[in-house]
Amino acid sequence: MRIDILTLFPEMFRGVFDSSILKKAYDRKAFDYHFTNFRDFSSNKHNKVDDYPYGGGAGMVLSPQPIFDAVTSLTEDTDTKPRVVMLCPQGEVHSQEKAEELAEEDHLIFLCGHYEGYDERVRQHLVTDEISIGDYVLTGGELGAMVVIDSVVRLLPGVLGNEESAPADSFSNGLLEHPHYTRPADFRGMKVPDVLLSGNHANIEEWRHKQSLYRTWERRPDLLKVKELTDKEKSWLNEWENS
Ligand code: SAM
Repeated sequence: MRIDILTLFPEMFRGVFDSSILKKAYDRKAFDYHFTNFRDFSSNKHNKVDDYPYGGGAGMVLSPQPIFDAVTSLTEDTDTKPRVVMLCPQGEVHSQEKAEELAEEDHLIFLCGHYEGYDERVRQHLVTDEISIGDYVLTGGELGAMVVIDSVVRLLPGVLGNEESAPADSFSNGLLEHPHYTRPADFRGMKVPDVLLSGNHANIEEWRHKQSLYRTWERRPDLLKVKELTDKEKSWLNEWENS
């Protein structure tokens, strides 16, 4: 996968891209990334990328020209049509499902906004996806791009080893993940549940499944409204609802 990031502040990405799993994934060539500072594409003699809003009001707006030209420079020589993802608090709230969808692509372009945001024509004619990382407003799109890229890259083939496997993660099957324990079995009187020490894999699986459902019911009942439940899951829910 190739990832292009259009940003005025490429240096913000260093700590995240140069550490941990993203760094390993890059070193193993699971993905490749490039920064484009769209200020370099400004036709303004002072390299300005923003301007006053028509109609007046506070704040500056990112001008369309540098962004359109920067995206064209990345797409004009390719036959494929990359997804152009705009980070935006008004976009679709990011999800595991969206990360899985983006992980199927060969080429993603991320667009990081600033100030009051983008001229509306960027949204209307250039981007394919608008993603928000939550219902709050950040100063810029870089943190959002890092969040989305991290969630996508960890799904690429070969990126996660057994130690960090993805399929059982929260949201992957519509549920939150079950609790985890590691050694010691007794930490200052706080004990690991007996079933996890039993060596009985069927019982352990059932305990995990039940815990996973319980956590979801307790913390994120909204997820259960859209999940197709098995008869066993329905009977567990009945048990808790009637207790
Ligand atoms: N005036 C805009 C509004 O009210 O919708 C907010 C602009 S915000 C100060 C500047 C930039 O930060 C946005 O263009 C976007 O790239 C990024 N940003 C802010 N909040 C975000 C969020 N929740 N998710 C993703 N990007 C966000």
